[in-house]
Amino acid sequence: MKAEIVETKDNTAKILLEDFKVSMVNALRRSIINGVNTLTIEDVKIYKNTSFMYDEILASRLGLIPIKTPIELKGKGKFSFKLKEMGPKAVHASDLVPSDKDVVPAISDMLIINLKDGEAIDLEAETAWGNGADHSKFTPAHVFYHFYPKITIPNSKVKGAAKIASLCPVDILDGEKDTLSVKKGKLSDCILCKACEDYAGSDVISISSQNDKMIFEIESWGQLSVKEILNEAVSTLEEEVKEIAEKI
Ligand code: SF4
Repeated sequence: MKAEIVETKDNTAKILLEDFKVSMVNALRRSIINGVNTLTIEDVKIYKNTSFMYDEILASRLGLIPIKTPIELKGKGKFSFKLKEMGPKAVHASDLVPSDKDVVPAISDMLIINLKDGEAIDLEAETAWGNGADHSKFTPAHVFYHFYPKITIPNSKVKGAAKIASLCPVDILDGEKDTLSVKKGKLSDCILCKACEDYAGSDVISISSQNDKMIFEIESWGQLSVKEILNEAVSTLEEEVKEIAEKI
């Protein structure tokens, strides 16, 4: 399988795949979702909660905050956070006081609770290691793939090209001066929704896919970098294949 990173932005990566088997690509996707270990808040001791939110909901919200997981720790140790706040205050993930400066919320402005005047919370939360097979809160990324798009515009001079371009949800079409084209370098962003073709007809713009190329997209939730996620997912896959081979 050939892989080329065609775009990286903050926590996302878009990878062009060739010479692939769909089953292998899907195995990698599943390994990212279920086979990468991360840290997440698991146990919460609530000493005081006079807010409108039930203890269980508060604990559940804490569990959904992505926690930065230094790769060198891999499976080792427990970490904790303290949270003691009084309203009126919008309490964010950044208000959690960590026991380790490297194990902190990945999205600091994630809202936990809006405390009203006089409401108070006082709690301690402890992390656990796990992967997406244990619970989806451990999953490190949103990951998906689709075949590479093919857009055919037989005649670029199209009356109403601007209207057709405006229908594209990912804004990759140019329709200025009644001339329809795909914006430079944007072809791989096409999500094959066919909104343009449905409106204008396949004689004006035709959408299909190239089944020998695939776009694989990963959006990290912030626990690990995209590179770390890929490395971990591949080594999990290798271990699983080795285990199966030994059992045969
Ligand atoms: S198929 Fe959808 S995403 Fe692709 S160019 Fe047409 S409108 Fe845009």
